[in-house]
Amino acid sequence: MPETSSSLHVSPHPLVAHKLALLRDKHTEPKQFRELVRELTWLLGYEAMADLTLQPSRIETPLEPMDAQRLEPRVGLIPILRAGLGMVDAMLELLPTAEVWHIGLYRDERTLKPVEYYNKLPDAATVQVCLILDPMLATGGSSAATVDILKHWGAARVKQLSLIAAPEGVRTLSSTHPDVDIHVAALDSHLNERGYIVPGLGDAGDRQFGTFAGPASEPGHGPDPHTAEVVRNLQRDLRKE
Ligand code: URA
Repeated sequence: MPETSSSLHVSPHPLVAHKLALLRDKHTEPKQFRELVRELTWLLGYEAMADLTLQPSRIETPLEPMDAQRLEPRVGLIPILRAGLGMVDAMLELLPTAEVWHIGLYRDERTLKPVEYYNKLPDAATVQVCLILDPMLATGGSSAATVDILKHWGAARVKQLSLIAAPEGVRTLSSTHPDVDIHVAALDSHLNERGYIVPGLGDAGDRQFGTFAGPASEPGHGPDPHTAEVVRNLQRDLRKE
C-alpha cells in the first residue's frame, strides 16, 4: 500500500475475521447479514474509539465519592446512504449520546464528481469527532467528499469505519485526507470494472435490505462506462506509487 495509508487500521481480532467470513458467504441471508453487520460494527467501533480523550468526572459510588473519567468529545455518526444505515444502531448502542447526521451524495454522470443532495448540518459543528459509517470503502469518492463537508463544518477529527476496503479507496481517502483514520475488518484485493470490491461480499445495501432485483442483475446489463473509467483511473494512480 502507498505511504499515505499509514492511517489504515485492519483489525487483527479473530472474532472479526470469523464474523467477516460469515458475512462474505453468498449463502448468508439478509437477516443474518444484518446481524453480522451490527456485530462487526460493535467490534470495529470499539477499536476505532480506543484513542478518544477522557475528562475527569467526580462521581459517588454507593461507598464513597471518587474521581472517575468520562468521554470528552461529542461524537457524530455519519452513515453513507444507504448501506451505512445498518451500522448506525450498533454504534448508538456503544455511544448512546452520539448524534446522527445524514449527508446524501450521488455521483454526477457527466462530471463523475459527488453531488450533495441532502445536508441539514447546522451552521456550526455540534460534535468534535465524526465517524463516517460505510460498510464498503470502494472508490473512496463519497468518503473523501463527506470528509470535505465535515471539515468545512468544523469537525476537529474524522474517522472512517468500514467492514471491507479496496486499495483504490484507501488511496483516495488517505491521499486527500491523510489525517483521517480508516478502521476496517479487511483490506481486499481490488475493484472490478463495476466498482465492486473483490473478493468483497457483493452489494452491501442489497444484502442487508434484500433488494436483489435492480437493473444491475438483469441479463445483459454491462458495466456502467463511467464507473469503469473511474476504476481504471484509480488503478492507474495506484500503479504509479
Ligand atoms: N458497494 C458495495 O455494496 N459493494 C462493493 O463491493 C462496492 C461498493
